[in-house]
Amino acid sequence: MARYELRCRECGKAWGNQPRSICDDCFSPLEVFYDYDYVRATFTRERISQQPPNMWRYAALLPLPEGFRPSLPVGFTPLLNAPHLAERLETNRLFIKNDAVCLPTLSFKDRVVAVALAQARNFGFDTVACSSTGNLANAVAAQAARGGFKAWIFIPADLEPAKILGTKVYGARVVPIAGSYDQVNRLCSQIADEHRWGFVNVNLRAYYAEGSKTVGFEIAEQLGWRLPDNVVVPMAGGSLINKIKKAFDELIELGLVEPKPVKIFGAQATGCSPISTAVKAGQKDIEPQKPATLARSLAIGNPADGHYAIKTISKSGGWAEDVSDHEVVECIQLLAETEGVFTETAGGVTVGTAHKLYQQGRIAPDETTVLCITGNGLKTTDALAGKYETEAAIPPKLAEFEKYLQNKLEVPETVEV
Ligand SMILES: *Cc1c(COP(=O)(O)O)cnc(C)c1O
Ligand SMILES: [Zn+2]
Repeated sequence: MARYELRCRECGKAWGNQPRSICDDCFSPLEVFYDYDYVRATFTRERISQQPPNMWRYAALLPLPEGFRPSLPVGFTPLLNAPHLAERLETNRLFIKNDAVCLPTLSFKDRVVAVALAQARNFGFDTVACSSTGNLANAVAAQAARGGFKAWIFIPADLEPAKILGTKVYGARVVPIAGSYDQVNRLCSQIADEHRWGFVNVNLRAYYAEGSKTVGFEIAEQLGWRLPDNVVVPMAGGSLINKIKKAFDELIELGLVEPKPVKIFGAQATGCSPISTAVKAGQKDIEPQKPATLARSLAIGNPADGHYAIKTISKSGGWAEDVSDHEVVECIQLLAETEGVFTETAGGVTVGTAHKLYQQGRIAPDETTVLCITGNGLKTTDALAGKYETEAAIPPKLAEFEKYLQNKLEVPETVEV
């Protein structure tokens, strides 16, 4: 086989490399398989550590075309220890993987798009497209601009204004659809059959999804080539969570880390929780939901990889939980106040879920736990509407400030968890 190729996840049929995401024989999703013996020679800790600090240092385990030259330093975001948040959650050894500062568009979706567009060029597409809950729209639009592609972006019309603006600014064509993400996505599958466009999360989905593995590679490398005991991962389509697990398995397979069981925990908003609901009920499959949550980036009612996410979570000995919109907002504030990280709603979901998991005793305080913070709070400021009142301005006089200070000191402000 080539260095990598598409194969059916269920029947195993090989499909070579082409813009296709479903097996025609059994209608299951395709997955990228690698020739690990080929990879083994070049994928060593030493080689990797000599590379620049971005996701391309793991190129040997990404489905990139021959001769691919990256033009953007995507990924390698900070892994922060989070002692203050840990204290508030009554635990230790807590880390934040901070993709709120992933470049170029401040979410982990930059990673998946970087891989998808490499293949889009390889397959000769001059137009790229996607259905998006917001962050993917931003990432496709920005990287298409830089890569010289035309971009068509399909979104539910009620997305956060910052995510819509942060797509249009790159010159992408944005098509608002009066419907849910699931309806937008279905439409995109139909459009992909009619137009020769590279839909990053439809016909290029198998390649796109591999980009998410770099979150897992980085966590291990940043922990000193060790795997954590637990990861908590927000879930929309359920792809990221599976790929973090795949990344850990590959590192073990290639001997870069000691084998170790890692518990994989999934996080959702209660208003759109098809995966966590199934995990908690002990079901193997998703019952689609109609999303009603502030956490728009996670609002996928019929997640494409939901079935596999359930499997990954259960097999690892992990669990899934979900939190209310109220908790999401409080946890956005909590993370900002404790660790100086302003995350979007999805990050609030992750922190809130971690809180629940600690309370339930599903994560022990002395275990090493990584929370995946996947997006930036500046894109979802609407979630905090009404939280901070605009105060009347005071005159630029010291005496006025002293008076103001006296008043303020009487009322300390922090969030309670
Ligand atoms: C898309 C997204 C996710 C979830 O990704 P899936 O791979 O679809 O599960 C998590 N967080 C943010 C901020 C996202 O935009
Ligand atoms: Zn098949």
